[in-house]
Amino acid sequence: MLDSSLGLPSGSPGKTRRKMVVNGRCNKPTPEDPPKEGNRTMPYNQRLRWQAQVPADTAANLFADRPTDPLLFSRHTGDDDSNPQSPFLVYILRLDISCPTSFFSSSSPSPSQSHLQQSHSHHNQSLRTSFSNLILKPISPTTQPNTTQQLKMVSFTVFKGSKEGKIVKDTTTREIGPNDVLIRITHSGLCGTDEHYRHADMALGHEGAGVAEEIGSAVKNIKKGDSVGWGYQHMSCQNCKQCLTGHETLCRDRVMYGDGNLDQASFGSHAVWDADYIYKIPESISREYAAPLMCGGATVYNALRSFNGGVKPNERVGIIGIGGLGHLAIQFAAKMGCEVVVFSSTDAKKEEALRLGASEFVATKGVDKLSVSSPIDHLIVTTSFQPNWHQYMDIMAPQATIYPLTVSFEDLKIPYMPIILQEFKIQGSVVAARQVHRDMLAFAAHHQIKPIIEQFPMTESGIQEAMQKLEDGKMRYRGVVVAQ
Ligand SMILES: [Zn+2]
Ligand SMILES: [Zn+2]
Repeated sequence: MLDSSLGLPSGSPGKTRRKMVVNGRCNKPTPEDPPKEGNRTMPYNQRLRWQAQVPADTAANLFADRPTDPLLFSRHTGDDDSNPQSPFLVYILRLDISCPTSFFSSSSPSPSQSHLQQSHSHHNQSLRTSFSNLILKPISPTTQPNTTQQLKMVSFTVFKGSKEGKIVKDTTTREIGPNDVLIRITHSGLCGTDEHYRHADMALGHEGAGVAEEIGSAVKNIKKGDSVGWGYQHMSCQNCKQCLTGHETLCRDRVMYGDGNLDQASFGSHAVWDADYIYKIPESISREYAAPLMCGGATVYNALRSFNGGVKPNERVGIIGIGGLGHLAIQFAAKMGCEVVVFSSTDAKKEEALRLGASEFVATKGVDKLSVSSPIDHLIVTTSFQPNWHQYMDIMAPQATIYPLTVSFEDLKIPYMPIILQEFKIQGSVVAARQVHRDMLAFAAHHQIKPIIEQFPMTESGIQEAMQKLEDGKMRYRGVVVAQ
């Protein structure tokens, strides 16, 4: 759910004006220093693709100096070029080169540059440098054309955002690497986060479902013809503490939707993904219902299951908002045995909430004091705006936990003393690690949890119509775009 790439670049962008010159390519690494991506050693004939978040003026310099280089450049959502502190002013730069050090060489070496070179000797780590405020991450392997391995190139349709917010059809060409799977997309859910990227030059959609059409030579977990899906995270280093303890969503080198692989997503005809981040869809879940589980389902399941042992059947779960996330949270929490209390502005969705498994419904519009039959142990917040926290803190049990689940660029403003006096907890949660995601799919299959969906054609106008409906707050409850 969260957009990990919208952090502010550190330091003052004004300090980064520096003329860039090119010193040519890196030499082939020595056998003592094999390039690595995560825990996988890369063959020498492969390059890494790097990603950097750069301040606006640095990006402008780079682009002006190197217009013809193999460089993919895109600007994140944003509309205020004059304000360098705008949280949206983040540029994504992708360098299809072996060695970013040479690319960023300047005519006179600087201490920060030598820091970059020093870091570069550790290929399995993120390259972090103060030089131009760059954070370079390897994001995906690509193979040089002179490889002896037989690699299949594929071209397919993608649907991208654009500066004006119009959906644009484009073509992407990719190789199917040894650990890759080519997926023919049949369905994609539409998530609130897609709206955030609508004005970015990147392929959209991250609740993908389809059929495995081609399998790389090293893939073991997926076979041709499998019904598969994928979600918000594309990759992690597979080697850090977080990755090795089942928290790869928190890996420093994680690649999530909007971070990398901007040339493909789930709105399109096909996509090529690393098999390690693809999920088999249980047979009993058809793909139009599986797609919304890939982000929406994973997000609510993780909040309910992954912290302090997860919610207990004798606990009461409050859910604020009935939308794409809320209507799934009601079902999962009810099937986990909890009493579910739903808070919505009016009674309009009351019958639906009770039918989905809620045992109590509270309409909040115009109400000063909320009233529930007994206090709430876990409060899942799925609305895009922050609720009146004072009202909710009055109905929470001591040591209750609040889970804010939607993306917001506002500060979380919450009453201070109740946190101390009632030992309330505020628990962050970002989609789901892969095993949690698998558990979620198995749980949904076993308990027949099914999103309520509205279907739209996978075309420019179909996607636009779906996005408009979501933006207007009229989607009941998850939009799914369907391949034509
Ligand atoms: Zn999402
Ligand atoms: Zn990691």
